[in-house]
Amino acid sequence: MNQTICESIVNGYPKKPKIFQGIENIPCYYMDGDIIHLPDYTDLEDYYRDLFHELIHSTGHPSRLNRETIYTTNYFDSSKDCGTIEELTATFGEMVLCHFAEISTEKLKKTITECFQYYDIKQNSVQSAQKYMGEAVLYILKN
Ligand SMILES: [Zn+2]
Repeated sequence: MNQTICESIVNGYPKKPKIFQGIENIPCYYMDGDIIHLPDYTDLEDYYRDLFHELIHSTGHPSRLNRETIYTTNYFDSSKDCGTIEELTATFGEMVLCHFAEISTEKLKKTITECFQYYDIKQNSVQSAQKYMGEAVLYILKN
């Protein structure tokens, strides 16, 4: 892991959501209030992996990319329901940001494989998620 790159990704994201840690046990992004909640971590790679995932969700906020899939539910639990386009978008984006930051993606590959085994994910959902993921990653990195 390259923590300098991790921090530059997070700090380079302008007007990012407020991030609270240790209040909730599940990493979540709440569109209402534009807030990310993260649990406490013992592993720094887990922290950044989850933070990147929630940052990708937050790019869908109406004040940013206004992604239509952000409206499917009011909050996003990164541990479940990766069958939706929004969850695929966040998981793909997490993987790309982890790659930039030299964070191991083995856990993520396992998660994605399980998603495809468990959910009936359609090819056009994957294509939509790839497109949204590209926009989200550029939004975070280019600003
Ligand atoms: Zn998620």
